[in-house]
Amino acid sequence: MRTARVVVVGSANADVVVDVDHRPADGETVLGSDAVVSPGGKGANQAVAAGRLGGHVAFVGCVGDDAHGRMLRTSISEAGVDVSALRTVQAPTGTAIILITPDGENSIVVAPGANRLVDETMIDQVTWAAGDVLVVQLEIPLPTVEHAVRRARRADVRVVVNAAPAALLPAPVLEAADPLVVNESEAALLVSGSTAPSTQVPVPGPASDTVRRLLELGPRSVVLTLGAQGAVLGRRDPAGAVVLTHVEAREVTAIDTTGAGDAFVGALALGLAEDAPLDGAVVRATDVAACAVGRRGAQDSYPTSDELSAMTRSAPRVRDA
Ligand code: AMP
Repeated sequence: MRTARVVVVGSANADVVVDVDHRPADGETVLGSDAVVSPGGKGANQAVAAGRLGGHVAFVGCVGDDAHGRMLRTSISEAGVDVSALRTVQAPTGTAIILITPDGENSIVVAPGANRLVDETMIDQVTWAAGDVLVVQLEIPLPTVEHAVRRARRADVRVVVNAAPAALLPAPVLEAADPLVVNESEAALLVSGSTAPSTQVPVPGPASDTVRRLLELGPRSVVLTLGAQGAVLGRRDPAGAVVLTHVEAREVTAIDTTGAGDAFVGALALGLAEDAPLDGAVVRATDVAACAVGRRGAQDSYPTSDELSAMTRSAPRVRDA
């Protein structure tokens, strides 16, 4: 029997990381550390996270014909990911400028470059099989995301939608999501229906209320990530009642949260492709993300399955929300 595959359609970026004491205010120049360049991009990160855990993973994306593009191709393929649908195009490889403050938090500007060229024709070349899981995020053109979701659903393929960076989504994408995965600011934007920058949208009330409101937008299930607080997942039981579960994060010293959400999504998708129930897949995803938070970099911080099992398991961390 063919092993179910995780197909990630998305972005690949070179992360240019600089440590700063504080973020620059308007008009301010801040002197930072030396820049460190490493492989990143939400799509590539998610593919690498799943690949490093031993999954059967394919990545559909674009890089430029430059040193950053070669760095990404190497990093993605060394994670065991099928890169036959990673296209080299005539545009600079996407770049993310990342500032990291001493608390481990980051601020990011993305220059999409080659990611703008991930198009529908690339999706049409994907061969889908029932049991596969499609993962999409929003650093590539939205029509490509919509097309991928349409094609996957037509082939009865499960779709994981990571609405990141924060944006409103067309109904067919929302309704296909199983789950929709968002962090708190992405959730705030979706439930407000506002197109204002995510930092200007008021933070909603308790996480369980937010998950209920997200479910009302139509996804089949929802996972709301809460940083050091872990994640709340929501789905409907056969009678249509909402069931909420909180999965606590493992306690770690945050070194660098860059790419933690992507590690979470990649690991979650792999769990679902391996037929784990949603809550079980979320538990492993929080462990993988905790590993990523405790080390520098995005892809460079992701654990192999051996590294993951070496983490000691504490008391059960799943309870009703
Ligand atoms: P976020 O995008 O900040 O919600 O983080 C995504 C996931 O990464 C969370 O659901 C956690 O599982 C994990 N995570 C993020 N920050 C931390 C932290 N400080 N400690 C442990 N896990 C974290």
